[in-house]
Amino acid sequence: MITIKNGLVLVGFNLQPQKTNVIINDEGMITKLSPTHQEGEIIDATDCIVTPAFINAHTHIADTIIKDQADGMTIQEIVEPPHGLKHRKLGEATDEELITQMHQTAKEMLYNGISTFIDFREGGIHGIELLKKATYDLPINACILGRSSKYHDEDLTPEQARLITRELLQHCDGIGLSGIQDINYENIIEIARVCHEEDKLALIHVAEYYQLQEQSLQQTNQTEIELALKAGFTTLVHTTHPVLQDLELLVESSPFIVACPRSNGMLSVGVPPLSAYTENGLDVALGTDNVMFNQPDMFREMEYTLKAIRATYTNKITAKDVLKMATINGFKILGKDISISEGNVSDILVIKQKSTDPYLSIVNRSTPEDIMNFIIGNQM
Ligand SMILES: [Zn+2]
Repeated sequence: MITIKNGLVLVGFNLQPQKTNVIINDEGMITKLSPTHQEGEIIDATDCIVTPAFINAHTHIADTIIKDQADGMTIQEIVEPPHGLKHRKLGEATDEELITQMHQTAKEMLYNGISTFIDFREGGIHGIELLKKATYDLPINACILGRSSKYHDEDLTPEQARLITRELLQHCDGIGLSGIQDINYENIIEIARVCHEEDKLALIHVAEYYQLQEQSLQQTNQTEIELALKAGFTTLVHTTHPVLQDLELLVESSPFIVACPRSNGMLSVGVPPLSAYTENGLDVALGTDNVMFNQPDMFREMEYTLKAIRATYTNKITAKDVLKMATINGFKILGKDISISEGNVSDILVIKQKSTDPYLSIVNRSTPEDIMNFIIGNQM
């Protein structure tokens, strides 16, 4: 047993600050919240905040191999499959290089208080196995979304897409697709369907920049967001540029939205309207996206998010909203509740308190050096 004692605990889905002890059993489950009870090993959290741990809800950690090498290039030149810089460099790298670099980034995420990350992994089954090798000796949870390069073949049939997807899903947690216009739409529908049938995740980048929306409307008379929702995706990545009826459609279907504001900033594609999403009751999670542009650091992501949204939109966003985006919201995508409540698994950070407002203290002032303790009770 462990007792986290004397801390200011952010309890439940509402992250309600309470002075209480948190008692955790040997299976990593929170058995009791009580201001007086204590048991087992004591972790003293005096002058600290006790918060759910971070989930980095969108990464591409293999591109650690090209950190800061794409600066100044257009988004198409960098990431468009199959010939963008990223894909060429990934193709040239040896397995050992990729494993070493991914291992390094996963270690860094642990240091930054991230217990779990959701990664888009290119390279088919082989690519998935490399990420497994890179993380097998680390306590971090890697949720791996695979992708086959065959998805981009022009003459691929839905039946072939189905078979390829089925095979991939035997090795990973779901599929992560580069974009709704990159692959034949019939095949995208089939891929999403197989994922649902097998109870796996299906995620896709949508509306990352405005021109994609324009292009989609010209060619299909529908927006990328509309096409993705119709294809059955329940988690959308980026959603930076909703247009026309997109916001209404999102509210109707209520997907999870994974936003990557720093990545959007680095690529000059805008600021996602997260305050409007939050105001409309949508669950937003944050991801640091490509390691080539961003450190996988949720403190940096949260601070940028709060300030970029406030600078750009008039709807209100609070530090508490942003802290939820970096913690409990992302776990909902995985069907997990890691809010600090009795009976839940404990993915918990103890962070030095730096101001009287616990949310701003974390979002606005903390860095990984302020993490005093990190308990990962949740093993996927
Ligand atoms: Zn991405």
